[in-house]
Amino acid sequence: MTTMDELRARRDAEAARIRLSLNKMHTKAAEEVRGGDSVVAFVNEEQCIGCDQCLIVCDDDAIELYDKPLRSPILDIEVNKKAKILRDECTGCRLCVLACPTDAIVMLDR
Ligand code: SF4
Ligand code: SF4
Repeated sequence: MTTMDELRARRDAEAARIRLSLNKMHTKAAEEVRGGDSVVAFVNEEQCIGCDQCLIVCDDDAIELYDKPLRSPILDIEVNKKAKILRDECTGCRLCVLACPTDAIVMLDR
């Protein structure tokens, strides 16, 4: 019979395997993100969860949060936060794209 320790060890090994796999995917995706003067970041509002990560990494003060009424009537929260890119301030450094946990930010041609 499987012991709890064996189960934990198996679970840890599987978590490590998944983490490694996700890191590889993220590195590959990061290499494909365009940056520079000719592009500007854009937030897909539907995918944004208002987590603040992009604001933290943006050195150029090119992102701000705004309030969006929450759709779900079952949650006792009136508004949700969404991120917005300030086009003129954005330098195209793409740090926000790499930081966003939901892949809500893409780089578009200016
Ligand atoms: S990091 Fe992504 S999900 Fe979080 S606030 Fe910025 S755009 Fe939205
Ligand atoms: S691409 Fe760089 S400058 Fe533009 S919003 Fe993202 S982090 Fe800020």
